[in-house]
Amino acid sequence: MNKKFPFTGISSVAMHASGQENADYAHLTPIYATSTFTFDSAQQGSDRFAGADKTKIYSRWGNPTFTVAEETIAALETFGIKNPDGSQLEVKALLHASGQAAMSTLFLSTLQAGDSVLSHYSLYGGTHEILNKLLADTGVTATIIDMRNLELVEEALKKDPKIKLVHIETPANPTIQCVDIEEVTRIAKRYNKLVSVDNTFATPYLQQPFRYGVDFVFHSTTKFLNGHGTAIGGVLLGRDLEYMRTKVWKWHVLLGGNSNPFDAFLLTQGMKTLELRMDRHCANAMEVAAFLDRHPEIAHVNYNGLTSHPDHAITAKQMKHPGALMSFELKGGLEAGRKFIDALQMCVRAVSLGTVDTLLSHPATMSHAGLKKEERIQFGITDGLIRLSVGIENIADILADMEQALKKV
Ligand SMILES: *Cc1c(COP(=O)(O)O)cnc(C)c1O
Repeated sequence: MNKKFPFTGISSVAMHASGQENADYAHLTPIYATSTFTFDSAQQGSDRFAGADKTKIYSRWGNPTFTVAEETIAALETFGIKNPDGSQLEVKALLHASGQAAMSTLFLSTLQAGDSVLSHYSLYGGTHEILNKLLADTGVTATIIDMRNLELVEEALKKDPKIKLVHIETPANPTIQCVDIEEVTRIAKRYNKLVSVDNTFATPYLQQPFRYGVDFVFHSTTKFLNGHGTAIGGVLLGRDLEYMRTKVWKWHVLLGGNSNPFDAFLLTQGMKTLELRMDRHCANAMEVAAFLDRHPEIAHVNYNGLTSHPDHAITAKQMKHPGALMSFELKGGLEAGRKFIDALQMCVRAVSLGTVDTLLSHPATMSHAGLKKEERIQFGITDGLIRLSVGIENIADILADMEQALKKV
C-alpha cells in the first residue's frame, strides 16, 4: 500500500494506492495463476499460517492479484474519510467470485436463526430472493419496508428487537429510488444495529457510505468497477477490521466463494478509469433522461437526476452525480416497450449494467421474473418498465438510436 502520498483525487488512488512488489519488476501486478504458494522452510509455512496476512498460503485464502484489487477498492471507499481522532479510516475488503457470493458471506457470517434483516422494498432481484427465500430456510427473517420513510424505519426497529442488520441499496434497482444513508444509519445506530450498503449503482466515486458510519459496503464488481463487462465479481468491505479478519474471513474461505487471479486482474485494470468513465456515464445519462422525459411516446422516466424524481433531494445530498441507471415506460406499455427494444440498432439488449456500452433490459420478464406479480407491481416494476444503463458512447449516437427506435413503436 502506498499510504504516504497525499492523493487529491480518486483516479490517482485507483492507479497508485495499491502496488504489490514483484520479483520480476513487472509494471502491473501479474496474474498469479497459482492454487498454492511455496514455503522456503517448514518454519516459514507455520509462520504464514500463524500470521495476520494469510494471502500467500492457498488461493482460496487470498492471492497477490486479489490483494491489489481489494486494497484499491478499500482505498476508494475510504478516500478522504477520517476517524474521529483525525487518522485515515481503514477498512478490510474481501474479493469474491460474484456479488451474490459476497452478499452470502455478509448475511451468513452476520445473521443467525432468530435474527431479522430490515431492508427497502426496491432491491436487486438476487438480493430479494436471498432475503425472502433462502434465508427463510435458515431461520432468518426479512422485514421489507419503504426505507425512504424514516418513521417506518424507526417504528420497525422499535417494534422488532430481532432485527440485527439494516441493509440499504441506493440507488435501488430498477426504480432508482434512493434511501438516505446518513439518516437511516443514525436511527439504526441508536438501536445498536449493524448497517450494510449495496453501493453497486453509485460506485465510491459518486457515494461513500462509510462517511456516514455504516459497518459494511458491498459491490457487485461485475458492474461499474470492472466497467467493461469482462468478469463476474463481488466485494465485501467492513469497518471492524478484527471482525473482518476473523468471523467474516472464516465464512468467506469456508464457503469458498473466492475470486480468481484473471478476473481480479481485469477488475484492477477497469478501476483505473473509474472516474473518467463515471463522468461520461453520468453526463450521457442526464441527456438521455431529458430526451426521454420530453418524448411524446414516453409515459414516465425514473431518473434521480430529474427534479420530478421523488428522491432527487436525497440524491443531491449524498451523491456527486445521479448515476447512469434509469428506467422508463412507454405510453404503449409492454407491447410498445418490446417493439422499442427490438428496433434498437446500436444500444445492446442485455441484462447487467455499468458496462462501457449502453444496455437495455426488461425487468418484469428478465431480472425480476422470479418475483410474484403483486410484489413486482408494489415495488414499482410494472409490466412495461424498461431499464437502461447508459454507456459512454458518443451521446449523439445513443440519442439517434433511441429516436429511430421510438418511431417504430
Ligand atoms: C448485479 C448486482 C448484484 C449481484 O451481483 P453479481 O455480481 O451478479 O453476483 C447485487 N446487487 C446489485 C445492485 C447488482 O446490480
